[in-house]
Amino acid sequence: MAVPKRKTSPSRRNMRRSHHALVAVQHQECSNCGELKLPHHVCAACGFYDGREVIAQSA
Ligand SMILES: [Zn+2]
Repeated sequence: MAVPKRKTSPSRRNMRRSHHALVAVQHQECSNCGELKLPHHVCAACGFYDGREVIAQSA
């Protein structure tokens, strides 16, 4: 089994983890109802996407 020759230094370990930061979830207002929704997703509140109703709402 291949084994690392050297222990990973704290500097190398931290450099590896420099890409691990969490980013906040993006959101934008629905153009139909104004509710916050995820970009490129159907609005969960009104079922609209790209200006038309994609999911029929029971209410
Ligand atoms: Zn909506």
